[in-house]
Amino acid sequence: MEDLRLPKYPRKGWIGVDLDGTLARTTSGMHPHCIGPAVPAMLKRVRYWIKTGRKVKIFTARAGDPVSERFIHEWCAYYQLPRLEITNRKDHQMIALWDDRAVGVVRNAGVPLVPLPMGFWRLVRLRISQMLGGRELVQRECLRAGPEHG
Ligand SMILES: [Mg+2]
Repeated sequence: MEDLRLPKYPRKGWIGVDLDGTLARTTSGMHPHCIGPAVPAMLKRVRYWIKTGRKVKIFTARAGDPVSERFIHEWCAYYQLPRLEITNRKDHQMIALWDDRAVGVVRNAGVPLVPLPMGFWRLVRLRISQMLGGRELVQRECLRAGPEHG
């Protein structure tokens, strides 16, 4: 099991966490207001950060739209997360950004930090579970969260 204490973040500043594809599952063809079910590993990590005094902000392109922000707050409440700030802006207090599209780079070097290749069987299992339950799971969770979520 992964060590949630790593990387070790300071208690000053904040950690940005993207929503779609990072904290919440996303699939193509989803209604724009629909927020998919939580990604368990990421939810666990965010809960750990909050429990240990780190500040987390939801970093999303949905920020700024009042309807979307209300859904995000409801989504967080559904997963027993506290009310988190929602933003699409960095500042100098941002210590890390977790995002499914961002590519990390070595500072001042222009060299990408490429994730370690996933083990073959883990990748196969992930693909199979996505094929079997992915889309249905997302739609089921959307319906459960209420019709206004899509
Ligand atoms: Mg994303």
